[in-house]
Amino acid sequence: MLVITSKGVFVIFKKLFSRKDCSHPSYKMEADFSADPIWCSKCEENLDIDNFPLSEELKEELAEWIGDYGEWIDMEKDTLMPGGLELEGKHDERGLELFNKVKASLGEGFPIVFVPSPLGQWYKK
Ligand SMILES: [Zn+2]
Repeated sequence: MLVITSKGVFVIFKKLFSRKDCSHPSYKMEADFSADPIWCSKCEENLDIDNFPLSEELKEELAEWIGDYGEWIDMEKDTLMPGGLELEGKHDERGLELFNKVKASLGEGFPIVFVPSPLGQWYKK
């Protein structure tokens, strides 16, 4: 899906600067449009969820969570929906629940952090 907003341009920018020689030493879980939820926190590469030892059930829950991402943005008008920040807060809460399951699956010492959605803050300006 190609979304022409400041967010869309930002995503493309991030991907252009992926570093192929990065060893992906640490990770972050962050929702984005039509992307898997786990990224390298160093080179920003979007990583294949199938490379992580997660249950099919958890992967489905994550896919659903990603599918709901950005529901609080009116793409036509490129503005926040009414109550958008609240919706985004709920999405982040659900993300944290899933993040705790991801952490439990990967092990406590696994270097991964959760990144809440920045969309609402961007659109609020
Ligand atoms: Zn990397």
